[in-house]
Amino acid sequence: MKKMDVIVAILFLMIAVGLFGYNVAHREVGSFVEIAKNGQVVQVEPLAENQEIILEYGDQYNKILIENEVVTMVDANCRDQLCVHTAPLKTVGRAIVCLPHRVSVVIQANGTEPEVDGISE
Ligand SMILES: [Zn+2]
Repeated sequence: MKKMDVIVAILFLMIAVGLFGYNVAHREVGSFVEIAKNGQVVQVEPLAENQEIILEYGDQYNKILIENEVVTMVDANCRDQLCVHTAPLKTVGRAIVCLPHRVSVVIQANGTEPEVDGISE
């Protein structure tokens, strides 16, 4: 009997840790994408929404793709192309910067108001 209790306790612990781990991993994904031009935020988009964002200022052009909670700079007509070659963003605090165009794309954690899940579904 004692042995059985220990096994059950361990099982519960594993499930609890598993759920906790899932929640933490999920939270670290981040919740919105902040796009700034010349140091000023020009656009904020939810990370969960797949979309293509095109930034055009005069002849400067940047194309940002949000897909499956991953942000990529897919295209730009800047001279160094560093932003296009930056690794896709997945975690909070990571950024893609286009220096020639003074554009930055940052994943920000959820703000003071938590996103409401499951209301529309
Ligand atoms: Zn660039």
